[in-house]
Amino acid sequence: MSASEAVTDALRDLHARFVGVRDGRRADYIPELARSDPDDFGLALVSMDGHSYSAGAADTPFTMQSVSKPFVYALALASLGLDEVGRWVGAEPSGEAFNAISLEPGTGRPANAMVNAGAIVTTALVPDSRQVPAFRRILVCLSRFAGRKLDVDEDVYASEAATGDRNRALAYLARSAGTLPVDPVAAVDNYFRQCAVRVTAVDLAVMAATLAYGGVNPVTGESVVSPEVAAQVLAVMATCGMYDSSGDWLLRVGLPAKSGVSGGLIAAGPARFGLAAYSPLLDASGTSVRGHAALGALSERLGLHLMKNP
Ligand code: GLU
Repeated sequence: MSASEAVTDALRDLHARFVGVRDGRRADYIPELARSDPDDFGLALVSMDGHSYSAGAADTPFTMQSVSKPFVYALALASLGLDEVGRWVGAEPSGEAFNAISLEPGTGRPANAMVNAGAIVTTALVPDSRQVPAFRRILVCLSRFAGRKLDVDEDVYASEAATGDRNRALAYLARSAGTLPVDPVAAVDNYFRQCAVRVTAVDLAVMAATLAYGGVNPVTGESVVSPEVAAQVLAVMATCGMYDSSGDWLLRVGLPAKSGVSGGLIAAGPARFGLAAYSPLLDASGTSVRGHAALGALSERLGLHLMKNP
């Protein structure tokens, strides 16, 4: 069997194996997300030659939510460099939930750019000007990672903006600690918009593959960020991308990853592939149940664990 047949077979098998799993529940603290179809389940893998493999609902649109965070972190790193970004946001696993009300003792920085507090600060670091507003930069950057023009789901944006007081509280907390360089209202608004950017599982696999390919989109050939920035982002995804289950994920699945509360999940195999899953039923830490199960099983089946000597 060729490598590409092995991937196609694996995605199909794992889709069939987990499509019947009914555990978990949709996020409903953003009311619009509770309207997603609990039966949706898509898997996609993009290789370094730009070939894409998929199974199930891999072309169904949904919003990125926290899967946007590593890519906006990449934009901030590309704009300001690691040292400057590191003055505002740390790179330590917090061991806490995605929306924890906490900042690092001493520095007042959010622990990392993958938890909400750190992502709001990261979004606020994106250069903003009258000619190129920060959100325009973010949307263009996310689109380059995906290799196509992405847009915002205005209903999901409005739903989160109407209910996002906890994130506003985090922005004000960071502002009071001196670690939010802009107006909290503007920072949170851009953050809500980036979370509402619409993608498919195939888009997310291309985005993850771009990080895996040293910042070059393997489908379009465009260099989106430098190899250094791509490596920095993958490192933070490996230690912090799965919130309070990051350690367990790295132990069992062995890949840098990022989950989001709409049910999107990405993982990257440096120099090998980008992977994505979509299924809106979530476990207690806000990760897609079917996505977690399928990516974990795929890692085992194809021997993808990064710490393993092949
Ligand atoms: N927009 C969501 C929030 O800030 C993202 C959380 C997530 O996907 O983990 O609550």
